[in-house]
Amino acid sequence: MIVHPARVRALSSGSLFVSDTGRFLLASDAFVERAVVGGITEADGAALSAMGHAVDPDDEFCMHSHAYALAERLDHANHLDYLIVVPTLRCNLNCSYCQVSRAGLNQQGFDWNDETLASVCKIIDDLGTDSIKIEFQGGEPTLRPDLIRAVMERCERFSHKQFVICTNLQQIPDEVLSIFDRKDVYISTSLDGTISSHEAHRTGPATSAFVDNLQFLVSRYGPGKISALPTLDPRNPPKIDEIIDTFTEFGLSSIFRRPINFQGFARKRHKASQEQDQAWRGYYERFVRRVIERNWLDQSQCLEETYFSICLRRIFQPGSDRHVDLRNPNPIGVDYVVIDYDGTVFPTDEARMLARSGIIDLSIGDVATGWDTEKRQILNEASTNQFDPSCSVCAYQPYCGRDLVDDLARYGRVDRERTDTEFCRRHMHIYDFIFELAYSDDPAVHLSLAKWLRLPAVPNELGPRLS
Ligand code: SF4
Repeated sequence: MIVHPARVRALSSGSLFVSDTGRFLLASDAFVERAVVGGITEADGAALSAMGHAVDPDDEFCMHSHAYALAERLDHANHLDYLIVVPTLRCNLNCSYCQVSRAGLNQQGFDWNDETLASVCKIIDDLGTDSIKIEFQGGEPTLRPDLIRAVMERCERFSHKQFVICTNLQQIPDEVLSIFDRKDVYISTSLDGTISSHEAHRTGPATSAFVDNLQFLVSRYGPGKISALPTLDPRNPPKIDEIIDTFTEFGLSSIFRRPINFQGFARKRHKASQEQDQAWRGYYERFVRRVIERNWLDQSQCLEETYFSICLRRIFQPGSDRHVDLRNPNPIGVDYVVIDYDGTVFPTDEARMLARSGIIDLSIGDVATGWDTEKRQILNEASTNQFDPSCSVCAYQPYCGRDLVDDLARYGRVDRERTDTEFCRRHMHIYDFIFELAYSDDPAVHLSLAKWLRLPAVPNELGPRLS
């Protein structure tokens, strides 16, 4: 019998053992003591084997199953089929936390020119896939509906296509509304917690236009087509119930709570956003616990904190999400790229923001000459957590990811001791929290976890134990 090496994390409820395939169990102190002195019993061996933590080397099926489970934990970035495009950097608002330092509404030279559009169309023509996702970012992309249409028309040949328009919803001219009406278009906007905090982050036209437009779109399409992301000031976040009420009043149930990103204008105006502290993490936990309570009080609804659900699914349903901000390995410039207003290609939107802030130029190429460059290759050498000395002994490594652009943004380097990074602290906290909840005996917690995992029924227990 081979017992797969496990990494251990001490939780308040016991010792969490996680194998390299991400299988886990919560062990009692008695089991830990037996394991440490080499006194594992036959019954322990049988239990470990039943839970997939031990395998008979002569059992070919089990050995293959283990290899498959290992491979399943690795994310696969294959063909380019996801483009984030910035047809214009101009914007009709001037938000204090703007990550890209947008250009003024009437400034010249911040929109795609004819050559850039032609190059983007050629990139789309050359894609070898039959599915495509394109996200229109800005600036405010709806200032150029003609460019949005031109890109969409170029995608007609794909059997599966999805377009996401990221907009501040300050105005919806008829031409833009007819684009929104397409079945393959989704709308992503910002709703910063409550209407008053939303207003506080913005300058320029009144927030009432945004509120009216969001209400209009939700009533026209239903909430499934629209997502709204709250960007919160960690030093002064709104009251939890007020955020939830604001979202539910618009019929929105997924709340992706993000602290202000340490990019663009935010670097100057929100300096505290470089690192999040215990106060923010405590606020995050209270938020998720309140969502659980409200799901229990009204079981017809499924409120969720989106990032919590993403992390949860990485534990229980590997491969079910394609969230490019949390994956491992996380190579850049392979399956998705960002195309800026001037045709420059960046690996991620955060990389675009860093260049715009003058911090570091992480562009990897351009639309005319491509991005198979030495710079991309060098960056990709740091794109996995697999061989990192801290990650390779961390219980959460099978579920965690790698974000080298985030490290560069915060610390100017990619080789900082992993456990001394905001990325690590954030994920260590979320995974500790998830496992505490997974081993809770509160039926309200079970109900929400089952909803977030889209399970057909509520299980009595989500995590195996060994006593
Ligand atoms: S980044 Fe931190 S939490 Fe994630 S695997 Fe590495 S050590 Fe663990």
